[in-house]
Amino acid sequence: MKTQCLIIGSGPAGYTAGLYLSRAGIKATLISGPQPGGQLTDTHEIENYPGFPENISGYDLMELMKKQSEKFGTQIVSGLVTEADFSKRPFVIKTDDNQEFTADSVIIATGATAKYTGLAAEKKYLGQGVSACAVCDGFFYRKQDVIVVGGGDTAAGDALYLSNICNKVYVAVRKPYLRASQILQDRMKEAANIEILTETVVTDIFGNDGVEGVTVKHKGGTAEETLRNIAVTGYFAAVGRKPQTEVFQEQIRTDEQGYILTDGVSTKTNIEGVFAAGDCADPVYRQAVVAAGSGCKAALDVEKFLNN
Ligand SMILES: Cc1cc2nc3c(=O)[nH]c(=O)nc-3n(C[C@H](O)[C@H](O)[C@H](O)COP(=O)(O)OP(=O)(O)OC[C@H]3O[C@@H](n4cnc5c(N)ncnc54)[C@H](O)[C@@H]3O)c2cc1C
Repeated sequence: MKTQCLIIGSGPAGYTAGLYLSRAGIKATLISGPQPGGQLTDTHEIENYPGFPENISGYDLMELMKKQSEKFGTQIVSGLVTEADFSKRPFVIKTDDNQEFTADSVIIATGATAKYTGLAAEKKYLGQGVSACAVCDGFFYRKQDVIVVGGGDTAAGDALYLSNICNKVYVAVRKPYLRASQILQDRMKEAANIEILTETVVTDIFGNDGVEGVTVKHKGGTAEETLRNIAVTGYFAAVGRKPQTEVFQEQIRTDEQGYILTDGVSTKTNIEGVFAAGDCADPVYRQAVVAAGSGCKAALDVEKFLNN
């Protein structure tokens, strides 16, 4: 199949790029990937996407974005991109179900997945007290007690963010020390409602109707292990994110974590005609409205590129 712009990914970035391109009269084809609708389909209530004062579920919001993108002509196809040849134009992209696309331009909008610790109970309570996004879900736990798992900058940032909303914030750190930058550690120590639990791992999450508490294992200097339960209603995994960019990494420049590097404020990658939008190129903001905004930028960059 031949297209003017192939968009890879069906999250807010991908659908917004499709909307802008098709409205501009550019033939846009979007491959939806393993998670049609993207990460937001994992979450029930969205309270911070502008335009929805009564809240909207992640699934419904993404269905609306899909509909709006399709309305102007974006062609949406299923498939997982497994191969991309960016060495010459038109670019050639292949999927796991043997579809082959040739495209004059490409927008990579494959997002980033949240990492969890691997505890089975995390899956059981996902969306019912377990989250990997403090900025997204913290508000649901206002004035409540929560636990953040992790010891790096993400965990420190999440704990500080939550300390302004929640009653008490425990931070479970596996090591005897935090890896977070000193300035964040100092701020955490200053916050009266943050308690750092070093050499501590969460071994279980429990609750009847959502999270009611966690079991933690503490290994002190005596090598003696102690188990205890802590009552919390929210569990925030803050152990990092993984950009979904492996398939492109031999050709597209990324940082050491795999986030695609773009040129200044534009969405241009190191390959002319290939652009990146949304969380796959954003280690900092990681919010739906930002991803949608960068999908718009990528579409405008593509339009300029194709018209040159
Ligand atoms: C639990 C949770 C709750 C959240 N809540 C909020 C919230 O309340 N408000 C908010 O603003 N943000 C929230 N976020 C963050 C928000 O979901 C992301 O910032 C946003 O979805 C990023 O959009 P994106 O388009 O970049 O990528 P994504 O939404 O991650 O979409 C990526 C897309 O790429 C596709 N894909 C991946 N690999 C391939 C491949 N090889 N081939 C083809 N397709 C591929 C996937 O199928 C998917 O469709 C939340 C995130 C999580 C995890």
